[in-house]
Amino acid sequence: MIPDALRALSWAQTWFFIVALWVGATVVASSIGFGMERALKARKIFDVPLFEGQYRFELMGNAVFIAIVTSAITLALKLGVIRFGAAGWAAGVATFGAMLVGFQVFYWFLHRAMHVPSLLFLHRWHHRSQVTTPLTGQSVSPGEALGWAVGFVGLPWVFSLVTPLSFWGWVGYLAFNTFGNIVGHSNVEPTAPIAATRAATWFANAFVYHSLHHARWNGHYSFQAAFMDRLFGTEWKDWPALYARIIAGKPLASLKEHAD
Ligand SMILES: [Zn+2]
Ligand SMILES: [Zn+2]
Repeated sequence: MIPDALRALSWAQTWFFIVALWVGATVVASSIGFGMERALKARKIFDVPLFEGQYRFELMGNAVFIAIVTSAITLALKLGVIRFGAAGWAAGVATFGAMLVGFQVFYWFLHRAMHVPSLLFLHRWHHRSQVTTPLTGQSVSPGEALGWAVGFVGLPWVFSLVTPLSFWGWVGYLAFNTFGNIVGHSNVEPTAPIAATRAATWFANAFVYHSLHHARWNGHYSFQAAFMDRLFGTEWKDWPALYARIIAGKPLASLKEHAD
């Protein structure tokens, strides 16, 4: 259930509260991402400069994303769109797990659709960052932010038509997604070599996996794990070799770099 203290807030109070939480999470996760970029200089992914004013541009995108996503969540909570009701740890884990898998499937289709020429206008903002930073993850156009809002709110609405969800499982997933999205766009490869194996990437990708999407565009539409790309044949074969190069201390010198 939605906690009583949250339910008692007005529309405006609810929105301000969610904005405060989201901005707080963004600041913390970005700080971790920038800290990693500084601490792990030997694990840099692309040794290619950012475009002029990139951080400022990305900050604007973050503001757009946060405004739209928090408004959608406020609407959903105040209108009671998602049917919450399940309580306890097991329900929390089940809701988290359903969101974890469901969002990846949803995101792959959303992302793939935005790469269709007629919809690319929605997605160009995110791809303005060819080399990524922790601020890239939430740097999107208003249209793409709406797509993410559908994943955060519409997807659990559909799930809750089947069975009531755990409020905390849903909140936990949103926090996990936000941290992963921000930290995972850092231009650094912090993972252990096992992360670049085929078995591990069914569940979680190395950071270079999505960095290559920003550099090359037409492949690697998955973010968190590679299973959707594997299903649809959109995974590049050379990324483990590039991973090996990066963790050996040789960052990719150009966006066009390939391994044979
Ligand atoms: Zn991205
Ligand atoms: Zn893309």
